[in-house]
Amino acid sequence: MATDAKRQKVDEGADLLHGFLQWCDTVGLHLSEKVCVSKEGTVADYGMLAKEDIEEGEVLFTIPRSALLYQRTTAVSALLEKEAGSLQSSSSWVPLLLALLHEYTSPESRWKPYLSLWPDFRKLDHPMFWSKDERDELLRGTGVPEAVDKDLSNIQREYEDVVRPFIIRHPDLWNPKTHTLELYTELVCSASGYNRVTGCKVHHRATRCYGTPFPPKERPLRMDEDEEDKPPNPPMMVPMADILNHVCNHNANLEFSADSLKMVSVRCIRAGEEVFNTYGQMANWQLLHMYGFTEPYPSNKNDTADVPAANVYKAAVQVARSDSERALMEERWETLSEMMQDGGAFIFNEHGCLTDSELHTALKVFCMSEEEFSNFKDNEGWEEDDEDEEQISQAFSNDGLPGLKPSWKRLIHEAARRTLQSYGDGEDRDRVLMKDDEALKGLNSRQQRALQVRFGQRRILCRLMELTE
Ligand code: SAM
Repeated sequence: MATDAKRQKVDEGADLLHGFLQWCDTVGLHLSEKVCVSKEGTVADYGMLAKEDIEEGEVLFTIPRSALLYQRTTAVSALLEKEAGSLQSSSSWVPLLLALLHEYTSPESRWKPYLSLWPDFRKLDHPMFWSKDERDELLRGTGVPEAVDKDLSNIQREYEDVVRPFIIRHPDLWNPKTHTLELYTELVCSASGYNRVTGCKVHHRATRCYGTPFPPKERPLRMDEDEEDKPPNPPMMVPMADILNHVCNHNANLEFSADSLKMVSVRCIRAGEEVFNTYGQMANWQLLHMYGFTEPYPSNKNDTADVPAANVYKAAVQVARSDSERALMEERWETLSEMMQDGGAFIFNEHGCLTDSELHTALKVFCMSEEEFSNFKDNEGWEEDDEDEEQISQAFSNDGLPGLKPSWKRLIHEAARRTLQSYGDGEDRDRVLMKDDEALKGLNSRQQRALQVRFGQRRILCRLMELTE
């Protein structure tokens, strides 16, 4: 019986994939003979495999823009356009999500064969679907619990304030009993994960202290990557591109042209290898937060750890020798907080500080004389800097950090120490676990992914402490 049920599931899966590939033909989505979509031999469910050797620069598939699913192509596009004014919210995702709510539940949807291939929502295991206690326990210090709490409250507010009233006004197209907050949240998770498969670079921003805005602040998919100065295009779903899994050392990339999007190999791919896209330069905490997976240590070359700016301030106050010095540091901290975008954390990777100019400014402000600080304020913050960007970047790289002024090193060292403390106990246990394959296998998948995030971040922070000893 069990075997019959399993066979039936496999058959259903094969039918869905067949239906999707046929749909691709009908919408003019062209797949190279050298690749295939598969559930076998991939890192996670569906993915793409090379059937033959592929050279660098080969087009693996081409998606006509008409096959993209977004607010301008959906069956409800005219209504979304007409009512655009009532769909404004802090995220730009409401029109896409309303389109998805409609298309996902409509038997007549033009994208049905594509949407049918989406994984069962019950399988989604992003931290958003863990219990709060589990998140707080397993991911303490990593920035993920705060980001998820913020997402959940933003999603709920957006649904209650904008989406639900809109749905109720249009009972011919939506139904609040079907299009619930729960379905909306699952679609947010899937759509933001799938939408982000298009290789947009994630700009490492300090989001850790206050949670990640929903959707996270990197650029949504643009129609043309050269259109840097134009306002961003709305987010959209890209069939076939979102079948590809991600690794930081990817071998394919999505390219944009006027009529179509093309997935192109960026190096040669041998027959049998998986074709990997990039979802952007993602640290493990970002991968876990947005997609529910991590790259095992040490393969994620984009991994980062944040040092909250508040910890640099606390380190500065700690060395103040009198109340008046402490008050001075507080004033400097207030000035810096006003200047810092996104509220303040300094981001480090395995090579050094990515937010070097922000850290440089903070250290200078905390360590400058009273007179210099007064000039600094008179200049409305930024003073003319004679050091060029290259020099600053070198000074805050792992090679440069040991050579910084002792007062600066002290602040960085103490801030890194405080940040490490915020992860709680368990550093030694994690280190032992990472070396013990058997013990690792004994962890459930949430524990494993959380361990990868904690371990990678702690490694970066420990290294930072060593370099600033
Ligand atoms: N494998 C997906 C599927 O079967 O639908 C297609 C890719 S989808 C855009 C993104 C999801 O794929 C992620 O949320 C994650 O579950 C999975 N994924 C992508 N890259 C992965 C990787 N390197 N390791 C583990 N899971 C990965």
